[in-house]
Amino acid sequence: MDAEVTIIGAGVIGLAVSAALSGCKGPVFVIERNRTFGQETSSRNSEVIHSGIYYPYGSLKGKLCLEGKKKIYAYCNKNDIPYRKCGKLIIATKSSEKPHLLEILKRSRSNGVTDGRIIEQDEVNELEPYVKATIALYFPTSGIIDSHRLMKQLEAESVIGGSQMVYGAEVIGIEKIKNGYRVDLIDADKQKFNFSTKMIVNAAGLNAGKIAGYLEINDPDYRVYYWKGEYFGVGNGKNKYVNSLVYPVPERNTVGLGIHTTVDLGGGLKLGPNAIWLADDNLDLKVDPTNSVVFYNTVKHFLPFLELDDLTPDQAGIRTKLQKPGDPVRDFIINEESNRNMPGLVNLLGIESPGLTASLSIADYVKGLLKL
Ligand SMILES: Cc1cc2nc3c(=O)[nH]c(=O)nc-3n(C[C@H](O)[C@H](O)[C@H](O)COP(=O)(O)OP(=O)(O)OC[C@H]3O[C@@H](n4cnc5c(N)ncnc54)[C@H](O)[C@@H]3O)c2cc1C
Repeated sequence: MDAEVTIIGAGVIGLAVSAALSGCKGPVFVIERNRTFGQETSSRNSEVIHSGIYYPYGSLKGKLCLEGKKKIYAYCNKNDIPYRKCGKLIIATKSSEKPHLLEILKRSRSNGVTDGRIIEQDEVNELEPYVKATIALYFPTSGIIDSHRLMKQLEAESVIGGSQMVYGAEVIGIEKIKNGYRVDLIDADKQKFNFSTKMIVNAAGLNAGKIAGYLEINDPDYRVYYWKGEYFGVGNGKNKYVNSLVYPVPERNTVGLGIHTTVDLGGGLKLGPNAIWLADDNLDLKVDPTNSVVFYNTVKHFLPFLELDDLTPDQAGIRTKLQKPGDPVRDFIINEESNRNMPGLVNLLGIESPGLTASLSIADYVKGLLKL
């Protein structure tokens, strides 16, 4: 075999897996179709280190988010990766929303999130003088991270640990062979080549369903749906009016967390993301400027300082979800496929939020599945 392990995709998940496999016996290849790492979803998100409040008890999302949050802060400290524990506030503007906040607090505690507490209006005002709220649920250890620096560090660690990064090469086919797999690639010059590998980690993000399809895994449970999330930047100096991550009380069964404030390490402030189902599977990354009106109307009750012309279109990212509109929320799929007669193949599908937060714990989980 040319490779012991082949990781498809150099987003934060593929990079975290390759870093976790540092020093493992035999060559590790990381195959990425773009010219460098992190060009897709991993650089088009809110960069929030989530607490793990909402995910169902016992789910991979809940468990790996909670573990991942601790690991990522420790990793940042060890490697000088910028982050800020700016805290998260879920705010109620009407007293009728308090029972829902208490319910979220209870759920967060049963998920093992220990830092949440209800704070009254005075304390909200001290933390966020420009935000309108009667009461809030406060999670002081939620934070933001420089995700590019995280990925850069993971890439460096991978290379030092022996992984070979193969950029500008797209996987266009995989075939099961004796004791492993044959992987077909095409490079930027349209040259085709192939190699053999004992194990494969499919960390191809939005494309992970297609990669599984190359091995004729056409399980409807593995069908990936795309949901766009748009952001609007807040300008006219009003980026300074909010310090933390401020969320409205979420609607039940929502596909996102509701349009909220996202602060960044450079002092910027964004609103978003919304959640638009891309029914035609078109990877459309445009931000529709006319949506500023919806954003404005959604947040003005808790950000009363905002004017419509403070908002300008910013980035968009695409979530890979395992559900379409109306379906129940699904957990991450992280499966070793021996029971499909494909030992050593790990498929990761539906790695939406909190994938960044959970990246280091997902990597350790994958390493465990591969028994490495
Ligand atoms: C709008 C939005 C907001 C989010 N906010 C947060 C947040 O605040 N906190 C959080 O924890 N998570 C957040 N997430 C989730 C997080 O961004 C993802 O879980 C994470 O980035 C997924 O990483 P990945 O490596 O699986 O995917 P990607 O970053 O997409 O990487 C997959 C890689 O595979 C490569 N690839 C695909 N097909 C092939 C092929 N055939 N050959 C070679 N290479 C291939 C791609 O080029 C890509 O680089 C958010 C996501 C979105 C969309």
